[in-house]
Amino acid sequence: MRTELAAAEALALILEETSPLAPESVDVRAAFGRVLAEPVVATRRIPPADNSAMDGYAVRRSDLAAAGRERPVSLRVAFEIAAGGAPQQALGAGEAARIFTGAPIPSGADAVVRQEDVRREGESVLVPLCPAPREHVRDAGEDVEPGELVLEAGTAIGAAHAGMLAALGRSVVSVRQRPRVALLSSGDELVEPDGDVAGGRIVSSNSYTLAAQCREVGAEPVYLGIARDTPEALEQRFRGGLRADVLVSSAGVSVGDRDHVRGVLAKLGCELRFWGVRIKPGFPLAFGRLAGDGGPLVFGLPGNPVSAMVTFEEFVRPALRKLMGHRTLFRPLVRARLGERLAKKPGRLHFVRVALERRGGEIVARSAGNQSSGALLPMLRGHGLLVFPAEASELAAGEHADVQVLDPTFLDAPQPGF
Ligand code: AMP
Ligand code: MG
Repeated sequence: MRTELAAAEALALILEETSPLAPESVDVRAAFGRVLAEPVVATRRIPPADNSAMDGYAVRRSDLAAAGRERPVSLRVAFEIAAGGAPQQALGAGEAARIFTGAPIPSGADAVVRQEDVRREGESVLVPLCPAPREHVRDAGEDVEPGELVLEAGTAIGAAHAGMLAALGRSVVSVRQRPRVALLSSGDELVEPDGDVAGGRIVSSNSYTLAAQCREVGAEPVYLGIARDTPEALEQRFRGGLRADVLVSSAGVSVGDRDHVRGVLAKLGCELRFWGVRIKPGFPLAFGRLAGDGGPLVFGLPGNPVSAMVTFEEFVRPALRKLMGHRTLFRPLVRARLGERLAKKPGRLHFVRVALERRGGEIVARSAGNQSSGALLPMLRGHGLLVFPAEASELAAGEHADVQVLDPTFLDAPQPGF
């Protein structure tokens, strides 16, 4: 087992141990947020045929070369094509076809004039202009051509993706299974939110933050409850998670007498790959795999509320995204200007909880408040984690640093922009 790794080394070991879960087929209606396990190649054209973008008349431009406002050209309305209909005949010289939005363009026609630009007179239509070539015509295949790679494997399915899959005739797609994450809290002081906090007890808030973090990334949390600080209690709870894809515990993983997590994991046959990462918050992080190759990945997160959240964010979340088959594993990273000086001791990489603000063309970062690993409020008042490199000791006001954006709501606009 390795100890006291750099953050990047720890992450590399985790990702090395992680590979995408098996695919499963799902209805496209239920596929939002899921990650494609297959590339999607178009087998049809979209749109399937040249069609009208307007309600109006399909025409031959050659008939209208001399048309003008003073000299409208009269065309005989030879037939009509509705959306969903098929043109029964070709358009002949001197003819127009009544056409509706989405209806296929008849052969012979090379443009559409809008109905509001013409005057209908019985069986004829008076056209006072000559449209541009293919005006108001949507070309067959202008959106998608057969053989085109439309969606790569590893793409998360959003609204447009769902619509495109449907348009391509795919009602079922292959996506990666969602990871099941067993969550376990440990500590004699912990109670559920409706519990009695007299006598130094506290609520197991980690159970709630970690479950929400799982949901946010698209994994399925399974709560194993609170284990008391005995090896027996811990072992029993851990056993409840042996069938999960990932097992995440919080607390009890440090060096105290009551910190039994590592011992229990060893007893359960978990060979830890590492313990201790040179970061703050979150140093006492343990990682391994339970019960051989098929067993769950195990993360022993530290117990302090911010340490648990930050280590989940930095190490568990990328692993979950890799299990889910995502091509990208990390949050958006922005270069922010420091609105104030930050200082620390060199040696550990710090994840500083910062509030972000757009000012001029820049993003400005300021401490979101108390940087204690027990103070949860700055995690919700802030928008991101500023990466304060391990060996640095000072970042002056005005300097720039990378910030992982966890909450992009600082970009929300007060007006719609129109
Ligand atoms: P430990 O690693 O067990 O020493 O825990 C470190 C700190 O985190 C202690 O102050 C614990 O009370 C606190 N803590 C542990 N588990 C939780 C939890 N599930 N929710 C909130 N705080 C916790
Ligand atoms: Mg404890």
